[in-house]
Amino acid sequence: MTELNKLTIRETAEGLKDKKFSCQELLNSCLTAIGDKDGDVRAYIYVDEDGAGLSAKMVDDRLADGEELDILAGIPVGIKDIFNTEGVKTTCGSSLLGDFVPPYDATAVKKLRERGMVLVGKTNLDEFACGASTEHSAFGVTRNPYDLERVAGGSSGGSAAALAAGMCTYSLGTDTGGSIRQPASFCGVYGLKPTYGRISRSGVTAMASSWDVVGPFGRCVDDISILLGALAGKDRLDLTTSDKDVPNYQDFLHKNVKGMKIGLPKEYFDDGVDEEVKDKVRASVKKLEKGGAKIVDVTLPSTKYAVAVYYITMPAELSANLERFDGIRYGKKPSEDPEDLVDFYFKARGEGFGDEIKRRIMMGTYVLSAGYYDAYYKKAQKVRTLIIKDFEKVFGKVDVLIAPVSPTPAFKIGELVNDPLKMYMADALTIPANAAGLPSLACPCGFSSTDLPIGLQVIAPQFEEGRCLRVGAFLESVED
Ligand code: GLN
Repeated sequence: MTELNKLTIRETAEGLKDKKFSCQELLNSCLTAIGDKDGDVRAYIYVDEDGAGLSAKMVDDRLADGEELDILAGIPVGIKDIFNTEGVKTTCGSSLLGDFVPPYDATAVKKLRERGMVLVGKTNLDEFACGASTEHSAFGVTRNPYDLERVAGGSSGGSAAALAAGMCTYSLGTDTGGSIRQPASFCGVYGLKPTYGRISRSGVTAMASSWDVVGPFGRCVDDISILLGALAGKDRLDLTTSDKDVPNYQDFLHKNVKGMKIGLPKEYFDDGVDEEVKDKVRASVKKLEKGGAKIVDVTLPSTKYAVAVYYITMPAELSANLERFDGIRYGKKPSEDPEDLVDFYFKARGEGFGDEIKRRIMMGTYVLSAGYYDAYYKKAQKVRTLIIKDFEKVFGKVDVLIAPVSPTPAFKIGELVNDPLKMYMADALTIPANAAGLPSLACPCGFSSTDLPIGLQVIAPQFEEGRCLRVGAFLESVED
């Protein structure tokens, strides 16, 4: 039998219901994996052994009482340390927030808590979700469980690595420019970036508000669909959430793609992408074709501007959002006595923020400053519209798009961290879906010759997550 900590959500829920194992045994299997491996992997910033133990006991008590439990009750989860968790330390990967204990749960966390989650702990991330490797965390780098010399990806690297290494059954992340899909693809798990506004972000520290989304990591497409159903919906605490109906996502898992039109955007298969990555993605496309889907070559000509648009508008929004971390409203006070209030701010922020955050705050305030606003920020917003229009055009012709998630499999720790421009290019294939607010599901699609996971993404029009799940479920069901 598969180890308890490696089961899917449905298998775990059934095992609990049938009393094959207790919730405490299940939790222990995750804690054992953490004890064995997390000294090296460092997926968690904080493991809440006591809190998780209490939640597990409550679930066992309810089971002993013969209560019929929700599918998510008792399931161990790792949550990116940028979601507020009531009473549980939340650092955002920053030493500035090292001691912060939120007084309330993020809406996504609250929804899971109401369904009986067992919160194992808070997972590592690049500081304030800014990065693609978790190397920008104040709490050390998360290593890839497939190769400890390599990154797990970022910024939700801890969530992806924790799941891949059996330290939880599912996990949560955020995706502003690729931070769910890229680590999912580096660690060989599924990760969904939903439509902008599909899941509430209330209680999740904002990075770039017009780009940020919350989403799940899971071991299979079914798990992703269960989690999306649990998390999606209108929230009066996040006015960007949509009141569109939340469909039953299970309805899309019928494993049939007959008649679907699938677009291959040529810009995502260019010279900058590893041959091996392209080969694996194309092999999956062949399976879809065999299953009766029609494959159509398409073009999204503005793709080449996406990284530039992102690295102008994201820092602009980020620098405004991070204003509140001033050592007074939020964040630690400076260690030395300040001369005056301005010096207080300088010292608190100077000590608290890491280099990458400082770089982005400087870029953001620069592009918003008088005289540069029109040249950079406003222009970038116009180009963002071109990217959106490209997608609108192709979605008139095809139902979904398929593309690689990342141009390469997981890179080595230290390889890109001192070359910000190269690191930024690692997001070239994930950023466009964020620019247009589109859902995109990262699915594992094989391994490189060096045994590293490779991922593809299925991108759909807004609120058509069901199409991503349909294609993902089909690919999952066909043998190699
Ligand atoms: N890697 C991208 C960045 O550095 C995306 C981060 C994210 O999606 N949170 O900004």
